[in-house]
Amino acid sequence: MPRISPLALAGAALIGGLWLAERVRPLRRQTHDTSTRQVRNVALGLGAMAVVSAIEMPLLTQLAKDNLRARRGLVQVLPLPRPLQVIVGVAAMDYAYYWWHIATHRVPFLWQLHRVHHIDPDMDMTTALRFHAADMVVSLPFHVAQVVLAGADPRILLAHRRFFNASVLFHHSNLRLPGRWDERLSLVFTTPRMHGVHHSKVPQEMNSNWSSGLSLWDRLHGTLRRTPQDEIDIGVADRASLADLSLGNSLTAPFRATPQPLPPGNVSLR
Ligand SMILES: [Zn+2]
Repeated sequence: MPRISPLALAGAALIGGLWLAERVRPLRRQTHDTSTRQVRNVALGLGAMAVVSAIEMPLLTQLAKDNLRARRGLVQVLPLPRPLQVIVGVAAMDYAYYWWHIATHRVPFLWQLHRVHHIDPDMDMTTALRFHAADMVVSLPFHVAQVVLAGADPRILLAHRRFFNASVLFHHSNLRLPGRWDERLSLVFTTPRMHGVHHSKVPQEMNSNWSSGLSLWDRLHGTLRRTPQDEIDIGVADRASLADLSLGNSLTAPFRATPQPLPPGNVSLR
């Protein structure tokens, strides 16, 4: 019988547990047909995952080995004990992603790609997969800089990837945590309520809650915003966001002109 690693089991438990939990305790009311959305999201995700596994991870793993060999980057030059090296390395990579996420909204051609993720009119675990394959290709120079500047070695790279992937699945999920657990967890991590605000059509709400792992970065930069979830209109306020939802249009959308934003009257401002 093949041996299953405890981490693979933990990953499967997280995915299965979240999948069940967001059905039992939904956070926001879904507005579109769930199965159609999920099939599209998973199909897009397969393209993105192909780029990550065929190009991104082999490239970053080689860079991480070079960091260790050449004592290159932040954690390699700091005199830290090993466990602290992993924590500082993962945190440094997470902080770099905070700025990259802002760039994907502010730089027009990056937004054309990131918009494909945001036009999902509802959120659940599959929204975490909804990324264009070309987005993964265009992000490569950022990931190279992220790994080299942080000085991530292969163990730090792997630890960051596991933390990031688990966090992205969790904070996109439509899970209503019991009691005040979302608020408590958001003291350290990005939670479904926090990230739901970032997926709002309202520009002031979308331009907040940029963190993808630790919530510290939004606290540090004053970009943390809390909005009641039943007031959030998920999606992008432009004229083509719903037409671009189909798989074919999602794939071609980044290569067409940026759609006109809807007039402010069509987006509720709070
Ligand atoms: Zn975003």
